[in-house]
Amino acid sequence: MDDWQQILQHSLRTPEEIAERFGLEVEAVRKIARAFKIQITPYYASLIKRKGDPIYRQVVPDLAELAENSGEDDPLEEDLDSPVPSIVHRYPDRVLFLVAHSCASYCRFCTRKRKVGDISKINPRYIEDGINYIKEHPEVRDVIVSGGDPLILSDDRLESILSQLRSIPHVEIIRIGTRMPCYLPQRITEELVSMLKKYHPLYMNVHFNHPDEITAEAARALNLLADAGIPLGNQTVLLKGVNDDVETMRRLMQKLLTVRVRPYYIYQADYVRGTEHFRTTVEKGLEIYQGLRGWTSGLAVPQYVIDAPGGGGKIPLIPEYVQSISEEKVVLRNYAGELFVYPQVKTPKRRRSRPQPPCFVSNSQRV
Ligand SMILES: *Cc1c(COP(=O)(O)O)cnc(C)c1O
Ligand code: SF4
Repeated sequence: MDDWQQILQHSLRTPEEIAERFGLEVEAVRKIARAFKIQITPYYASLIKRKGDPIYRQVVPDLAELAENSGEDDPLEEDLDSPVPSIVHRYPDRVLFLVAHSCASYCRFCTRKRKVGDISKINPRYIEDGINYIKEHPEVRDVIVSGGDPLILSDDRLESILSQLRSIPHVEIIRIGTRMPCYLPQRITEELVSMLKKYHPLYMNVHFNHPDEITAEAARALNLLADAGIPLGNQTVLLKGVNDDVETMRRLMQKLLTVRVRPYYIYQADYVRGTEHFRTTVEKGLEIYQGLRGWTSGLAVPQYVIDAPGGGGKIPLIPEYVQSISEEKVVLRNYAGELFVYPQVKTPKRRRSRPQPPCFVSNSQRV
């Protein structure tokens, strides 16, 4: 057994262990465990400094998860865009491919809380169907390997999936979405990265929510991946009591860049059952975006998005930088709130034509 598998085996799992370690009532933890999977790696648990801190809140169960009327099981309606159980096909040219049901630790705010940890919902026997679906859909040029956490699989099982994907000519890029560098950085081994390297162009999106998660061990893992030529992006969820202030978020984004990870998305927390206590206002998210843009490196500014309830997909939210726009000029507000004017290009008066959508270019206009 590999080191990482041994560490994983020693994770806190039972309500008794969890209750004892964190001074909680066993009965309460049992109740939560009946609804949602609980697990914490010893490595991640060791980062907790005190009860209720940002590391603690992400993984230690809370009775608030059982609150009534607190969101939906599948707010993104992924199940409706799911032609086979392992695939979510929502966008024209890319799919989400769910290949593993479990994770090293379980985020209390997980969007797929209804599924993760449940082998009947994300099952290895659906993988073949997923591969076949992708084979039969030539429009799919980008496959996002997700779960659960795909890096929970052994190197061999993961390689079998990656090599099958690579053998499909229309699959241009493969992405892996994983929280391993955060929850169990020991998973990132020399053997793993030399296997991954064979399947380029391969991208990886990791998931860090707080600057204290970027430890020396996490940095080692990320550097190994970056050295293998794997472009690294980060997805952060905006979470109350974890990272819902400008200072923390700015520090997180800056620290990610020092370990060669480019911030990709900040997600507004989804409307998921059992996660109401993590949600913030959208105004808070916009305030954080404004506290990044201009105040620090543009590289440190991810897109702030809401994954729209009802299956609308990711929609970017951008604070209002355009004050007004006319035929003569555009009035703009910069990051510090000062106004500037950009003169519009002078165009000869055209005959009035029917209004057209902004991206429509007619032949007469193209001459
Ligand atoms: C997030 C997501 C993707 C990938 O979106 P990008 O904006 O390309 O990163 C693809 N499919 C589904 C269903 C998603 O939720
Ligand atoms: S690592 Fe990802 S899939 Fe697993 S519990 Fe956390 S958010 Fe959910």
